[in-house]
Amino acid sequence: MPDVFADLVGQDEAVTELRRAAAAAAAVLRAGAVGRAPALVAAGPAGAAEPASAPAEVDPSTGMTHAWIFTGPPGSGRSVAARAFAAALQCVHGTGCGECPGCRTTMGGTHADVRLVVPEGLSIGVGEMRALVLRAASTPSGGRWQVVVIEDADRLTEAAGNALLKAIEEPPPRTVFLLCAPSTHPDDISVTIRSRCRVVPLRQPPATAVAEVLVRRDGIAPDVAQWAAAAAQGHVGRARRLARDPEARKRREAVLAVPRRLTGVGAAFDAASTLIEAAEAEAEASVTESDTTERAALETALGAGGTGRGASGAIRGAAGQLKELEKRQKSRATRAQRDALDRALVDLAGFYRDALTMALRAPVAPVHTDTAALAGAGAQKWDAEGSLRRLEAVLACRAAIEANVKPRIAVEAMMLALWKG
Ligand SMILES: [Zn+2]
Repeated sequence: MPDVFADLVGQDEAVTELRRAAAAAAAVLRAGAVGRAPALVAAGPAGAAEPASAPAEVDPSTGMTHAWIFTGPPGSGRSVAARAFAAALQCVHGTGCGECPGCRTTMGGTHADVRLVVPEGLSIGVGEMRALVLRAASTPSGGRWQVVVIEDADRLTEAAGNALLKAIEEPPPRTVFLLCAPSTHPDDISVTIRSRCRVVPLRQPPATAVAEVLVRRDGIAPDVAQWAAAAAQGHVGRARRLARDPEARKRREAVLAVPRRLTGVGAAFDAASTLIEAAEAEAEASVTESDTTERAALETALGAGGTGRGASGAIRGAAGQLKELEKRQKSRATRAQRDALDRALVDLAGFYRDALTMALRAPVAPVHTDTAALAGAGAQKWDAEGSLRRLEAVLACRAAIEANVKPRIAVEAMMLALWKG
């Protein structure tokens, strides 16, 4: 039986560190049980003079810490690592065996002392964070740890970040915070939060490691797994979708057909529309189902559909709650669209990167083996400089969208740049 860290692909160093910390945490609990005061090694605060660069003052390889940040590129397994570590902390053996109730309920998302914050909108608000911090301060019902996992901690609003910081600065004795963020850049995580946390950097897993896990865990044929792992550029979840979902493969093909279609100004605008609409369709497919279920659940809870005397009054009172739900769903849909568009742009960037490495005759494997011939033709036509300019146009489009330029405008500008070269 594989333990809880088995799905953390290509991250041996991080797994070693987390296993050590889990063992140290178990030792803290044992010491507490025989009456010695349990003492966690608190991280930081780093020296006030140089908060950004000073490392948290903990032994980097052994002790347990109250607050952690898992960093790494999308798909590297930040949240997988955080959940696995949470399971190891709740494991009755203190190892993350994968079999005991503590491990299984944590991995299944039902452990009473593990709170998971997955932002559905563009940001995590202060109300949500305050409620969470309050609940996290209670004594763990299972007698081990209260664990709070915050996925996409880079989406904390400033106020929410401050609420979290307060909790991390004066942590309740048995509470552990696990944050996930792309990096420790101040844009992602405030310098003060970072100075109180131990950082676990994850790397982009190599394609061979991703392929191996697709074969072992998901039973995917080795040749499909290898293709999908390369095409997904180290993103484990995306590799699995590409290997399994024909719709995801079709959408990818449509994106990779873009360079061929750019024959004029009109075609460039058409290509922009196609890309935007494909992202919208993908996003809609991913959120429609949960939207409908949520609305039905809320309506049932509010007594809609009833015909009794109280029903109409209840519905009037319920309008506010439904509006709140719609707002949340709209925000989630926006996020899903941006994510889908970003994936498409990453695919497109991979194509121009292939053209660039071919023009430079660099000894690197192509990202997209199935469009390698087309990229080769591009390399001949554009040479290294032309390929690089196109790659930069795609990356500039991503950056513009990140900076809140309207996606359609950014994509149109990119398509024109790609056409003109
Ligand atoms: Zn266990």
